[in-house]
Amino acid sequence: MDDFRNIKIAVDFDGTIVEHDYPKIGKERLFAFRTLKELEKQGASLILWTFRTGKELEEAVEYCRNNGIEFYAINRNYPEEVIDETVSRKIDADIYIDDKNLGGFPGWSEVWQILNPYELQEKLAEKRISASRKKLLKRLFGKKPKNNEN
Ligand SMILES: [Mg+2]
Repeated sequence: MDDFRNIKIAVDFDGTIVEHDYPKIGKERLFAFRTLKELEKQGASLILWTFRTGKELEEAVEYCRNNGIEFYAINRNYPEEVIDETVSRKIDADIYIDDKNLGGFPGWSEVWQILNPYELQEKLAEKRISASRKKLLKRLFGKKPKNNEN
């Protein structure tokens, strides 16, 4: 399964992966790592998106690593990104998972349900089909089909 290929998911730490206990590390929220691992397995790039810095950030990263999650990037869009004044502080993720979401945090089993509905799977499949259809048309009719020729 690779349904989350090219999908960047920004995940908050305190209150989301673990219960809020900052600066300590709270208890894992039920199914947090299980869900994250499955998303990763399906091709998602997981970005840790947290206000933690320095030692507290390292502790969070280490905690996640010990639980089988190695983030693609931490507080940035990609691992090598250098953050300076020219770079937006908002990261460019496709999906944000945060306990401060409008409506509050629904819990990880609900997160899983939301991310895996039939409609989403269908949309991803359509995207793939339309991409391969475009490729086929390009192959059959060349790069620049003229408008007046059908
Ligand atoms: Mg939070």
